[in-house]
Amino acid sequence: MSRPVMVNAYDPADAERVEPRTRHLIERREDVLGPGYRLFYREPLAVVRGEGSHLFDADGNDYLDVYNNVPSVGHSHPHVVAAVHEQMQRLNTNTRYVQESLVAYAERLVATFPKELDRVTFACTGSEANDLALRVARYYTGNQGVIVTEGAYHGLTSEVAAFSPSLGTGSPLGSHVRTIKAPDVRKADGSLDDYMRTEIRSAIADLQRHGYGLAAFFADGIFSSDGVFSDPAGFLKPIPEEVHRAGGLYVADEVQPGFGRLGESWWGFQRHGIVPDIVTIGKPMGNGIPVSAAIFRSEVTEEFGRNVRYFNTFGGSSVPIAAANAVLDVIESEGLQDRARTVGAALRAGIEDIVRPFGSVTDVRGIGYFLGVEISDADGGPDPVKASDLVNELRQRRVLISASGPDGNVLKIRPPLAFSSADADRFLTELAAASGVLNS
Ligand code: PMP
Repeated sequence: MSRPVMVNAYDPADAERVEPRTRHLIERREDVLGPGYRLFYREPLAVVRGEGSHLFDADGNDYLDVYNNVPSVGHSHPHVVAAVHEQMQRLNTNTRYVQESLVAYAERLVATFPKELDRVTFACTGSEANDLALRVARYYTGNQGVIVTEGAYHGLTSEVAAFSPSLGTGSPLGSHVRTIKAPDVRKADGSLDDYMRTEIRSAIADLQRHGYGLAAFFADGIFSSDGVFSDPAGFLKPIPEEVHRAGGLYVADEVQPGFGRLGESWWGFQRHGIVPDIVTIGKPMGNGIPVSAAIFRSEVTEEFGRNVRYFNTFGGSSVPIAAANAVLDVIESEGLQDRARTVGAALRAGIEDIVRPFGSVTDVRGIGYFLGVEISDADGGPDPVKASDLVNELRQRRVLISASGPDGNVLKIRPPLAFSSADADRFLTELAAASGVLNS
């Protein structure tokens, strides 16, 4: 295939598709930012404003956002804006001063977890939270090894990129890293629980044979970059026991599924009936203000905390905490977790009805506001080009989604929690109109 895996990204060879004003901005951008950044869509979108689950271009055209999980309670939500504005006017300083708001938020956050998870450390990004989780796990276990799924993404620090296989061959995995297969029930010969147990056992044995031992197993609770896997609920159940037997820790990366996105539960790991040793959170936590955290069982982090000073200049300072607190207010007061559950179920059913006639759609999966639609070629192999064609056709219809999975052939449908049932109707109407590309 001549196109790269991220086939839904902009390719400068397609510059003539783009209207002149945006094209000029893209050229300036490339000159100053270089090639490491990617733009979504064959015809990139220049945006100037956001509101709820809508983005707007300079001409005032409205785009339906069915993709962004960071502005979870809605782009520019007035309650979050007011909280940030008010806090910024009053005080924005760090965790070395006593501030009631930090303590109150930490207590409120910890109360959303099972009682064993009772300590929180604040940072700015999901990558930092995962980096800290690994440091703590190594300190606590005395081991070095890490296990992740084969399409995982956990972040961008050198340490975390070394266990993020989805970054591709240009970003090598550490010699202390082993991967297991994604939890695809169709590949399991028997139950998915048994399949996962076998996978983790052989990865642990290999780490032990090479002298690394197991420090931590990291899992994104919705397996987003692996291509979205949620079913059957409970398939992660055997893993903590296996990990603990090897002396390691279970780290639930909740950057994607957390904060009610799956509808039925507040945290993704709850779908599998497990209690992790460490949980990392980020993205939607501050609705766009950088804030993240790692939540620990206190026994895991106690000694590390006593012996290793933790100071993160911006992590946990007054403004990000005000944003994070306002996000919890909105999720609760607007019933957004429940919306993800009910509208998410209707959305999934509507998608299934539309794509059923198309042989190229080989699976619809996911839960709440995290859905995946797998597109395959005539031989049943991944078809990232067709997936990209559909993503781009929807973009032309002012509906924004993307594609994920190791082959880029799984449509990722992951709207802000603010996405309403009217938004879902609009999405389904446009999907039905665009679905003809699945025949091509
Ligand atoms: N973990 C997961 C599962 C993620 O999806 C991401 C970001 N895509 C990260 C960690 C890293 O978060 P950040 O970009 O905030 O560092």
